[in-house]
Amino acid sequence: MSVHDVVTALADQRIDVIRLSYPDLIGVDRGRDILAHHLPAACAHGLAFCRAVYHTTPRGDVVDVAGGLDAGLPDVVVRPDLDTLVPLPWEPGVAWCLGDPVDPATGLPCPESPRDLLRRVVADLAAAGLSAVVGPELEYFLLDRDESAPGGWRRYADVPGNVYTVGRKSDPDGHLTRTMRRLDALGVGAIAGNREFDGGQFEINLTHSPALSAADRAWRFKAAIKELAHAEGRLATFMAKPFNDSGGSGFHLHVSCTGADGGNAFDDPAGPHGLSDIAHHAIAGVLTHAPAMAALLNPTVNSYKRFGPDTLAPWLIDWGLDNRSAMLRVPPERGPGARFELRLGDASANPYLAVAAVVAAIVLGVRAQARPPSPLQGYGYDRSRAALLPMNLTDALDALTADTALTEVLGKDFVTAFVSYKRDEIERFRRHVTDWEFGEYAYHL
Ligand code: GLU
Ligand code: MG
Ligand code: MG
Repeated sequence: MSVHDVVTALADQRIDVIRLSYPDLIGVDRGRDILAHHLPAACAHGLAFCRAVYHTTPRGDVVDVAGGLDAGLPDVVVRPDLDTLVPLPWEPGVAWCLGDPVDPATGLPCPESPRDLLRRVVADLAAAGLSAVVGPELEYFLLDRDESAPGGWRRYADVPGNVYTVGRKSDPDGHLTRTMRRLDALGVGAIAGNREFDGGQFEINLTHSPALSAADRAWRFKAAIKELAHAEGRLATFMAKPFNDSGGSGFHLHVSCTGADGGNAFDDPAGPHGLSDIAHHAIAGVLTHAPAMAALLNPTVNSYKRFGPDTLAPWLIDWGLDNRSAMLRVPPERGPGARFELRLGDASANPYLAVAAVVAAIVLGVRAQARPPSPLQGYGYDRSRAALLPMNLTDALDALTADTALTEVLGKDFVTAFVSYKRDEIERFRRHVTDWEFGEYAYHL
């Protein structure tokens, strides 16, 4: 369909505004609303944005990312990806389109672009004759405004012990069913949702698809959940570990590969555990590169507070057969459903970077024909049996910069930009005096 046909089709649907957005480094949706009749010009030339998008922190500070401040924060132009255009179900007259930032001088993709990074890594896997198939699962907390609560928000329907309960008992306001219908209309492939372990916490599972579309859907899912909560005067947070007395929010990724024949390349009835050599290489790749991957899958200073024994979040670098205490679980299905569930990521991760990290680790595992150790038996939080994950963001960033193979696949420019942004975040946190310090030290010292 030409862009002019698209504009005509939009007019037929009474859509006159296009919300053009793209992910910044940390996954925030940044964009501009454009009038639909300007879409042909935006497609021809791109829409200009200041590169500051990649330098802006959630608090609104501008930090230096890989020397971009020195360059005077020049433009990027964002090219609409019309294949992603979809009417916004809750805002009549508006359609939502994803875009790709390019450098206006060269016309090449911006090196900080998470969406382009994922495209490049997917191409590397294709060179090995494989395509990744990804099914995302995201957990989040829904919060109600409460000026008397710490931070001004309290957990919605905060009743413990309600995991896997449905209906008004755990969701008096019908948040889950209302949200799932809206997500369905948006086309993000929501399948099922439930109350999670902790008060106010929900999980929604998305269907599987090729890696880029899975990341697009997971990213849209996060933006949509936050948007819908805002419309109700609420806050939905994908922060990894928002509360001391609740568990964290995971971003589990179910991953398999298809081969050249389109069949599941992880399945092999004759292989150990019914898994193919490719599956073993892929698992080994993830185990080998897990410390570096944590920088992308667990990208905040808060992320590391989710890890620990007895949390259902990981703590050690291990894998197991249908074992939820392992970092990587191989669910029991085989045949077309053969896959692993990587439980490492937390919900705060930028979906493009999280999926790219996993695909890159698979590329490396397959190239090296690596083999994992034997799977974990029994309950998995025994420190003597496996290596510890990085326990803070500094260690994860150090692991990423030390992992030259993973850095090569992800692209040095991207890694430099990401690491410089995150080192600044760590430094800002290091200088901040927390409530914990005051509580621990102020009275007796
Ligand atoms: N909330 C857990 C996590 O942070 C996962 C719980 C589950 O298994 O669904 O990963
Ligand atoms: Mg869950
Ligand atoms: Mg899961």
